[in-house]
Amino acid sequence: AHLARIDAIDEKVHAFLHVDREGALAQARAVDAKKAAGEKLGPLAGVPLALKDIFTTKDMPTTVGSKILEGWIPPYDATLTQKLRAADVVILGKTNMDEFAMGSSTENSAYGPTGNPWDLTRIPGGSGGGSSAALASYEAPLAIGTDTGGSIRQPASVTGTVGVKPTYGGVSRYGMVAFSSSLDQGGPCARTVLDAALLHEVIAGHDPMDSTSIDAPVPPVVEAARNGSVEGMRVGVVKQFAGEGYQAGVVQRFNESVELLKSLGATIVELDCPSFDLALSAYYLIAPSECSSNLARFDAMRYGLRVGDDGTKSAEEVTALTREAGFGDEVKRRIILGTYALSSGYYDAYYGSAQKVRTLITQDFAKAFEQVDVIVSPTTPTTAFPIGERADDPMAMYLADLCTIPTNLAGNSAMSLPCGLAPEDGLPVGLQIIAPAMKDDRLYKVGAAVE
Ligand code: GLN
Repeated sequence: AHLARIDAIDEKVHAFLHVDREGALAQARAVDAKKAAGEKLGPLAGVPLALKDIFTTKDMPTTVGSKILEGWIPPYDATLTQKLRAADVVILGKTNMDEFAMGSSTENSAYGPTGNPWDLTRIPGGSGGGSSAALASYEAPLAIGTDTGGSIRQPASVTGTVGVKPTYGGVSRYGMVAFSSSLDQGGPCARTVLDAALLHEVIAGHDPMDSTSIDAPVPPVVEAARNGSVEGMRVGVVKQFAGEGYQAGVVQRFNESVELLKSLGATIVELDCPSFDLALSAYYLIAPSECSSNLARFDAMRYGLRVGDDGTKSAEEVTALTREAGFGDEVKRRIILGTYALSSGYYDAYYGSAQKVRTLITQDFAKAFEQVDVIVSPTTPTTAFPIGERADDPMAMYLADLCTIPTNLAGNSAMSLPCGLAPEDGLPVGLQIIAPAMKDDRLYKVGAAVE
């Protein structure tokens, strides 16, 4: 049924870069056979899923939305992919994304944009716009995203779906193509809080193949999602997550959510987190710096595209020609920014300062979580904007992640879930819930209560 749905509408939505029809049907049949034989089934047996094209899959291409990896079929499965297969999930295919996960609209994909199923002329968020669009258009009931600065939560917000960025280190990054290694985190996307929890439980857990993976039990997310409540909880509202640039209808729905939390028994606490105002600037030094280092591996020798290898050119020339042809503008912009920020003479002024701000943000969160159990905010300042509106204005694009970035810098966990439609445009608004590191279960407890 999901393959038929994809056939019927994906030409318009363009959520998928690759549909693995044969593989999906084979997996589904294998589940049937297991069931018929009375074998034990995985926890998500037979449930179809849309996988962001940033996780390696040994039977499918992995492009990361870039021409530089066009046609590359990885020799191994990411840990997350292995876990999905072990849970008997049916992987439908790979979803569209901003190239190397850099963007907030999926317009930076080298393979063309994805439409928002609520209004195909609008963006589905990014970088994981393909995954969120697949959910919102009922092409898949579950999806996987990655969140470096908001790429799970902001797409969830603008498509009226649920997305969770787990605690940094909660889900393995092994086989997840690196953008900014100290920020990148894979996580679950779904249409309900409980569905997200069921997927979260399957993909999380310690992995010796990832040196930053946390060696501790997975927080009890499913139990929390089944027992939603905010009774007696202290919920923080940060004064820095408001003001100029926030759409009236977003603010209205957010304020209503705060009233709902109160009526369900939560105590609202106003919080001041002054360093949050610097988060975007710090992020746009740290993320490009790490990106400039990570993307050095795309040298035309080891993976994917190779341009100009005609026997007359040096290896350096082939690398340069390949990068020129294979990387898009935003990726080049970040590599140049990061290389500059890391260069000797500038390192302390830029990268060093950004790391100090990162520490201040972590301290602001630590102080806040002495006073509250969770923090709430709008997920993103506006509803889905029209395709093309911010495409030539990187600064305007970067503002989409104003509320999501502090969490990545501190490494704690956060969820976005729908909280109604904005009255002025009828488009979905997202409520963000933020919890301390390894307290991901609180997101589900609160999310299930207000869903
Ligand atoms: N929009 C942010 C960026 O462009 C975040 C992307 C992400 O979370 N992968 O870097």
